[in-house]
Amino acid sequence: MHRLYETEEITVFWDSDRCRHAKMCVTGCPEVFEFGRRPWIDLSRGEASKIWQAISRCPSGALSITYNHDVRVELDEENSRSIALLDGEIIGECDYSDQGDSRNIYHTEVMPEYGGKGIAKRLVYKVVEAAERAKKTVIPSCSYAAKLL
Ligand code: SF4
Repeated sequence: MHRLYETEEITVFWDSDRCRHAKMCVTGCPEVFEFGRRPWIDLSRGEASKIWQAISRCPSGALSITYNHDVRVELDEENSRSIALLDGEIIGECDYSDQGDSRNIYHTEVMPEYGGKGIAKRLVYKVVEAAERAKKTVIPSCSYAAKLL
């Protein structure tokens, strides 16, 4: 299961299949990470720097984090994609097509000058999270998504 948690400042990624339940996140920032609570990650309860530190101690890579750099990522279901927006301009997108119970992610691209900021990962997670919530099987035919997932 893939989930993302967002504030204005940061995005946290969670891949439950990788979690070893070592609880380094919980001990590092208990106000934010709490197993059994829904949602179990509540970013509004902690400072970004402390959350970053706690996630950096995750031994499995189940949790990861990026600063948003003023880029907003949203789902554009009408056009079967997610988009990254900066000052109203689209600077990246992740495209998919749905067939029955499956979702094929076939293209992910971010403008080169905005590379290395975690935007592509945010785009893919946005699409995957929505697919999983709709109980669709994700087929990552885009090479970036395949590597990420
Ligand atoms: S620190 Fe990482 S591996 Fe450990 S419980 Fe948290 S998410 Fe899972």
